[in-house]
Amino acid sequence: MKNCPYCGYANYDTAAVCRKCDGSFVAQGGHVYQGKSYWIGPEKAKHLRRRGLSLLVLGLLIKVYWGGYGPWPTIDFPILVTLRTYLEPLLIFGGAVLYLFGWIARFL
Ligand SMILES: [Zn+2]
Repeated sequence: MKNCPYCGYANYDTAAVCRKCDGSFVAQGGHVYQGKSYWIGPEKAKHLRRRGLSLLVLGLLIKVYWGGYGPWPTIDFPILVTLRTYLEPLLIFGGAVLYLFGWIARFL
């Protein structure tokens, strides 16, 4: 098996291109590519998506547990309430935007 340098998919040893992402293994002279030159690339984009997703989840957890969407008392300490109104949309929308950007950034 030959792992794709772009997406990690396991291909047959005889494969010249990846079955999953069409990334080429072999250059004209028979040399193996070290990798396409990307601005961001699939590997960094994967990290961006993971980070975005974890921010999004953190924002939702704050919304539920801090915001009082449950049988527990709402935290109504003024400074914390003010902090939450800024923190919550920042984490949720920031995380969503970062996740979507990570999806696009694979091809950049
Ligand atoms: Zn691939």
